[in-house]
Amino acid sequence: MALRRAVVVTKHATFRFYEELNDFLPPDRRKAAFDHPFNGTPAVKDVIEAIGVPHPEIDLILVDGASVGFDHRLQGGERVAVYPMFERIDVAPVTRLRPQPLRDPRFVLDVHLGKLARYLRLLGFDAIYERDYDDAAIASIASRERRILLTRDRGLLKRNEVTRGYWLRHTRPRLQIAETVEALDLRGSVREFSRCMVCNHALEPVEETSIRDELPPRVRGRFEQVSLCRGCDRLYWPGSHYDRLRGLVRDLLTAPR
Ligand SMILES: [Zn+2]
Repeated sequence: MALRRAVVVTKHATFRFYEELNDFLPPDRRKAAFDHPFNGTPAVKDVIEAIGVPHPEIDLILVDGASVGFDHRLQGGERVAVYPMFERIDVAPVTRLRPQPLRDPRFVLDVHLGKLARYLRLLGFDAIYERDYDDAAIASIASRERRILLTRDRGLLKRNEVTRGYWLRHTRPRLQIAETVEALDLRGSVREFSRCMVCNHALEPVEETSIRDELPPRVRGRFEQVSLCRGCDRLYWPGSHYDRLRGLVRDLLTAPR
């Protein structure tokens, strides 16, 4: 008796990933063209994610030299070039996959990234973080508020509703903040000491005389202005702690990668 076998016609396309997208690939597929098999006529996004690259990291896909959307169907035999999110490559004349360039640096952070959230706030960036958010809540905030999702979890980046995101390569917070500033080209947007590190509210300058009673005696009368957080009522003023933070900002912006 002969076994009946389903006939599966496997097709191939040739893929090449550029720049930091190679971080998601096994060593033998990095910075090289390789064949990848598929069946049917899948959306190019699904094949790319099956290869291991989450779609929010991608800004541009060229199929046989023409830019296409995520839903472009592969037929077999194409050459697919995939470029990363951030604007390091001049691709102005072609269709980018984002509705607009990612120039609005506001963030939502995955759980376990509390320290990175504090560093981002120290540099003045709006960074939402709650220890008890689940994946669905984080993805929904990213989508609803058009925030960049920062995570160490590639699966979270593959959720459909996430359109802006970055997968952190580093695990140590000090390296993660340097990595984030570098990868998202944030240096020019840094406004240190403009946001509360604890609750993410923007700080407001207030006359020292108006809140003098709330300051510790050793600080009273030393400054004309201090900064007030109306989110949690904390006061911030220049002092030894501030000098340490200033050193920290300098270190953060120059940390080795
Ligand atoms: Zn606050």
